[in-house]
Amino acid sequence: MARRLGRLSTATTLFVVFVCVALLALDALLAVRARDAELRQADVATANLARSVAQQMDSMTSEVEHVLGYVVYELERQEATDDILAQLQPLLVTQAASVRQIHDLFVYDADGRWLVSSQPVVEGRPSNRDRDYFIHHRDSPSRRMRIGTPIVSRSTGVWIIPLSRRLDDAEGRFAGVVLATVQVDHVLEMMAGFDIGRRGAIGLFRDSGEIVARRPYAEQDLGRSIAGSTLYEQMRQAASGGIAMRSPIDQVLRRIRYRQLANQPLRVTVALAEDELLSEWRTATYVQTGVILLMCALTTLAGTFLVRAIRHRGRVEARLYRARRELRHANARLRHMAQHDGLTDLPNRRSFDEHLARTVAQAARGRRPVAVVMMDVDHFKRYNDRYGHPAGDRCLQAVARAVDAAARRPGDIVARYGGEELVALLPDTDRDGARTVAEAMRRAVEEQAIEHAGNPPAGRVTISVGVAVQIPDPETHDAAVLLRDADAALYRAKSGGRNRVEVHGDASRSP
Ligand code: GH3
Ligand code: MG
Ligand code: MG
Repeated sequence: MARRLGRLSTATTLFVVFVCVALLALDALLAVRARDAELRQADVATANLARSVAQQMDSMTSEVEHVLGYVVYELERQEATDDILAQLQPLLVTQAASVRQIHDLFVYDADGRWLVSSQPVVEGRPSNRDRDYFIHHRDSPSRRMRIGTPIVSRSTGVWIIPLSRRLDDAEGRFAGVVLATVQVDHVLEMMAGFDIGRRGAIGLFRDSGEIVARRPYAEQDLGRSIAGSTLYEQMRQAASGGIAMRSPIDQVLRRIRYRQLANQPLRVTVALAEDELLSEWRTATYVQTGVILLMCALTTLAGTFLVRAIRHRGRVEARLYRARRELRHANARLRHMAQHDGLTDLPNRRSFDEHLARTVAQAARGRRPVAVVMMDVDHFKRYNDRYGHPAGDRCLQAVARAVDAAARRPGDIVARYGGEELVALLPDTDRDGARTVAEAMRRAVEEQAIEHAGNPPAGRVTISVGVAVQIPDPETHDAAVLLRDADAALYRAKSGGRNRVEVHGDASRSP
């Protein structure tokens, strides 16, 4: 019972632990999966954003390329005389004004001198032959538009991106450069139109790795090269793709999507800060984890109550068990007391009478002899008188022990018949056997050698014994006859001098 409850409380504890672990595992699993889903979704959105930015940049630059193509065509078609140049000037002004992104348009001759521009030509301007784009076009026969890294305009002092083309003369020799400038601010304005969160970034790079424009804006970033960085190496591998990394520019952990422009040697990157992307997920996960922790706490609480209740019940049951056992013992004691004599602990007279009736009935059925042995302590009244009643009691106990020990067969019983009288019932015992047992009892008492001065000639405690043996009549099988006969034999033993055995009917008939 206690073990069963112990197992139950262990099982409850294990169950609670299992439920809590399972809930927490589930929480972790759900959180990880939600995070993956969130990031996947963000990557798709970022890729779309990168595509839009690339398209805008592409059309913006392609429009400029178109204008440059037009001016180059006009200048290569005819000799660039002063007249022609004078006609071209308002055209450049119109173009610069109508194409929003173009800040200014310039034409330089083969020595880097201003020929004409959308600004009024001011004499004595420094030559632009030292500019990168100029050197590039002078040295390269390519007729494609070049997009340079941002520089500070010598004419307006603002940050501009130079977009330029080479001019050839009729023989295909270098004849100058046509330049369109785009304000970095204009590109930044375009970038500002995209929602990239507070810590997102949009970058516009040349194929060779230099930054053309970047949001968030920092002047020192312009023209800086990311060549050699992981991001750059990745971008060189594919026209578009993605990577999650710390930005080489500002160290923020971002999920970056990059894309090459369809028509220009430029690449854009759109990068969203991972902690911003995950902020909603984080809140949801906190709530979810909170709820699950609460559930764990409630389960633990319930489990604790249950275990306590089980233990309490265990204690109650143990007490109940003890009480029942004590009651059983008390019952057994009561039953024993009802059937035994308090002084000698031998069966009492009532118990003996029941035994006797049963044994006589059985003997009658089986036609087997039964013997009854009656014993009485000799001159016991004198013993009490001389040694006192308590000593008399102790003497009776000793006599009972001696007599009881002499009855050895399993069916034999010795009982206290009353006062200082004992009786033995010996089933399946004939006269000789009964006489032998009776004699052994008498001797056993005598051999205890308990002093009894009032009992001459022995001077010690003795008993007189009367024996009756009978094969009971199956019709009557009257136990009273046996008792009466044994009593009569005892009487004879007393009157014959005490401390002796008399067998009823000796020398007259023998069963
Ligand atoms: P006899 O040899 O003729 O049997 O003499 P007796 O004195 O034994 O005869 P009697 O039967 O007259 O005396 C029995 C005495 O046994 C009476 C009583 O004082 C004593 N007696 C009976 N039961 C108890 C008992 O439980 N304890 C004690 N101490 N004495 C008992
Ligand atoms: Mg007596
Ligand atoms: Mg007596």
